[in-house]
Amino acid sequence: MNKHVVVVGAGPGGLSAAMLLASAGCRVDVFEKQPRVGGRTSFLEQDGFRFDLGPTFLMMIYTLQEVFQLTGRRLEDYMTLQEVDPLYRLVYSDGREFHPTRDADRMEAEMEQFFPGSYQGYKRFLEVEQRKFRHLIPRLRVPYSSWRDYLSWQFIFSLPTLDAHHSLHTKLGKFFSNEDLRMAFTFQAKYLGMSPWECPGTFSMISYMEHARGIYHVMGGLNQITRGMAQALAEDGGQVHLSTAVEEILVEDGQAAGVRLENGETVKADDVIINADFAHAMTHLVKARNRRKYTDEHLHRKKYSCSTFMLYLGLDKLYDVPHHNVVFAKDYRRNVDEVSKGTTPSMDPSLYFQNASVTDSGLAPPGKSTLYVLAPVANNTSGISWEKEAAAYRELVLDTLERRAGLDDLRSHIVTERMITPEDWEQDYAVFNGATFSLAHNIGQMLVFRPHNQFEEWDHCYLVGGGTHPGSGLPTILESGRITAKLILESYGRGLR
Ligand SMILES: Cc1cc2nc3c(=O)[nH]c(=O)nc-3n(C[C@H](O)[C@H](O)[C@H](O)COP(=O)(O)OP(=O)(O)OC[C@H]3O[C@@H](n4cnc5c(N)ncnc54)[C@H](O)[C@@H]3O)c2cc1C
Repeated sequence: MNKHVVVVGAGPGGLSAAMLLASAGCRVDVFEKQPRVGGRTSFLEQDGFRFDLGPTFLMMIYTLQEVFQLTGRRLEDYMTLQEVDPLYRLVYSDGREFHPTRDADRMEAEMEQFFPGSYQGYKRFLEVEQRKFRHLIPRLRVPYSSWRDYLSWQFIFSLPTLDAHHSLHTKLGKFFSNEDLRMAFTFQAKYLGMSPWECPGTFSMISYMEHARGIYHVMGGLNQITRGMAQALAEDGGQVHLSTAVEEILVEDGQAAGVRLENGETVKADDVIINADFAHAMTHLVKARNRRKYTDEHLHRKKYSCSTFMLYLGLDKLYDVPHHNVVFAKDYRRNVDEVSKGTTPSMDPSLYFQNASVTDSGLAPPGKSTLYVLAPVANNTSGISWEKEAAAYRELVLDTLERRAGLDDLRSHIVTERMITPEDWEQDYAVFNGATFSLAHNIGQMLVFRPHNQFEEWDHCYLVGGGTHPGSGLPTILESGRITAKLILESYGRGLR
């Protein structure tokens, strides 16, 4: 197909659309401002240690497999997946630990030990959510660019099962009365940067997917996903131009016409796909006169996800703790509120950390290990100055890991270290408000209310990534690439394979 498509950004969203379009015969040029592909799904390398920059949980692996299949490939020829089970270690305020697993016998024993009488609720959770999964997944593949998509019978029939009118926390109360157990099935709201008390019950799908389909690591780190996608794209003739930032998206007569690069070059295109963080792209890459709906004021009024304070630690030893670990704040509800609405850093943090070297010895030199630490914190609308707060927050995070997570003497084992604050996400990684999981996923910003895959403002312009439908998280981001590629091909009377 003799069409030229320009993609702004080589994150997983941009690469999935680019792969599908290149395989369908389009000429595809991806412009990426960083010196490597992947965006937030890339990596940091320092002193022989390699860390994933962002994602560490891969779920719903079939979405990734399908993107490769649709281009006539097998995922396993590009990367090696490894299931992680038990799923994670959860550490509660009283020091108790819960290790949810996909092994039914071990799960029953673990649940009955810590939460007597709770296993029946778990079985009911899996049954009910399986039905929701069957309704919801096909719905995610519809663009919701118009109200027509809502009037389809499939959508109307699936409405009662979607639980969008309850919070995630309320929804899970139907299965689990114990508050600690409810936390074990609702903390996943944080994957969207949201509070379980505000996140729609629809997202109980996430914990269901973990338990029903598993959580995967990619050997070498999840950054290997975007490396593999870029390789597949190149094989089909697509070009990724690294260290080549787009300065402006060109709009002529209500149509996207191409891009102007920071190096001064103008690249014309039949279609433009925006993968750069949506609100960042609007405010930095599009002239105000070309935006009617997404004005600066409108974008500032939107709700955004939380941010994350990150430490990437290279250690001279390997701790005997699982791959994925969550340490809940002592007062979890308060911590979640501080992360959602606070104006100062939460002094009682919840932490996620990944001890990936227990699964993947190639990430660190022999005998050493990588530790990836993520503290959800308020985004930059909070007004927190991380320049002032970062050093003290690092100490608080390390104290918490040493005292509560079993990482004794952690400080004395650090041989190399990097830190990323919400201000760095905004300045160095082009993430609006440092909101690492993009626009929030409240009802008013989902489906037709989220910026559309076929962008509302101009013809021949499309969105992919966490800021458009279906939302943030690798599986949905890959889905956004598929929806957009399909829309573009259909606009020329073609379809995906
Ligand atoms: C800390 C963290 C942890 C996460 N953990 C998980 C997880 O465990 N599992 C999961 O499924 N998801 C996770 N996510 C969410 C999500 O999957 C990733 O953030 C994902 O990389 C987002 O993909 P994207 O395509 O929307 O955008 P990005 O990955 O941000 O890609 C956008 C690209 O656009 C480029 N760009 C921006 N401006 C320009 C410009 N002017 N010119 C050219 N290029 C430009 C950027 O450099 C970037 O490469 C996590 C995110 C973060 C930040």
